[in-house]
Amino acid sequence: MAITRLSGAILWRTESGAKPRWIREAWIVGSRVSLIPPDDPPDDVVEGVAVPGLVDVHCHLGYDSSGVTSRERTIRDAAAVARSGVLLVRDAGIPERANDCLIGRDDAPGLIRCGRHLARPKRYIRGLGFDLADADDLAAAMAAQARASDGWVKIVGDWIDRAGADKADLAPLWSLAQLRDGVRAAHDHGARVAVHTFSHAAIDDLLEAGVDDIEHGSGLDATQARACAERGIPVTPTLLQISLFDQFAAAAGTKYPIYRDTMRAMWNERVDHFRMLLDCGVHLLPGTDSGGYQDHGSLPRELVLWREWGAADRDILAWATWRARDFLGADVLSEGAPADVVVYPSSPEDDIAVVAHPAAVWRRGRRLV
Ligand SMILES: [Zn+2]
Repeated sequence: MAITRLSGAILWRTESGAKPRWIREAWIVGSRVSLIPPDDPPDDVVEGVAVPGLVDVHCHLGYDSSGVTSRERTIRDAAAVARSGVLLVRDAGIPERANDCLIGRDDAPGLIRCGRHLARPKRYIRGLGFDLADADDLAAAMAAQARASDGWVKIVGDWIDRAGADKADLAPLWSLAQLRDGVRAAHDHGARVAVHTFSHAAIDDLLEAGVDDIEHGSGLDATQARACAERGIPVTPTLLQISLFDQFAAAAGTKYPIYRDTMRAMWNERVDHFRMLLDCGVHLLPGTDSGGYQDHGSLPRELVLWREWGAADRDILAWATWRARDFLGADVLSEGAPADVVVYPSSPEDDIAVVAHPAAVWRRGRRLV
């Protein structure tokens, strides 16, 4: 069994439920981590700053801008993501179970699937979600996705309603009653609910219905953000994706002027909006939305944007590692936990940009970098 001694600073949870703290030495023994020095000498000693693998809670591995990717391509994309130090992903919706090929691989990140995300005809990216002809079928569809997924169901909360022609704007896809029934159905099946939402108009009903997680959340106002903070509903701010809102606005052109102005206004306010989320104490989740507009493996760039727009390096590291893992129910570095470890040459708490340059990466004890 291969033994590696980690030396320097290791972000380690000594007590169940406690905030991890920095310790000076730990061991990778086979596929697990431990503080107990093994009897045999180490095969390797790695010095640096070791943290639990990063998490991307919003990606679409198995998909790219041209659609569902081949099995080989999906495996290659996932391997690149793992080598970037992202060792756990929540797939935020994918057709055709396109990333089932990643399950059990130790050259890919751990995978938490949301199943197929649920939308309405002409109310989302064509072919990516599953369209319900009748919105009253939402609860049954969410129950079905809960059975097919890994404890998460994803729904599209709002999208441009082009039926409004030159009055078209972002608008909710579901009524409050449909959302309530849907969330209850997912919860009854042991799944939590994540929602894509850009607009302000959709948020109150989503909170009222009891969703568990807001993706993008660009339309939240401060009252709603405080409600999220109080209820422990995290927001995945997807800043790389929000940075494209001016392009979405330009594409809407003169055909959808109201939608265009909505998107452009959110783009103009994007930095202040992110700071507002920080000021309100919202729990942030790291997500790239890779697989459509964003490249797989872009989490380091996303996290650097968080810092540029006002978040503290120390908070970003916590959000991107152990706090995201706790939220998803995944392991952090603790006695006997799987060795999903990333080592950096310097501390991401001093400069988060170092996460783009992992010195060593192990997934279940297998060294990838
Ligand atoms: Zn997405």
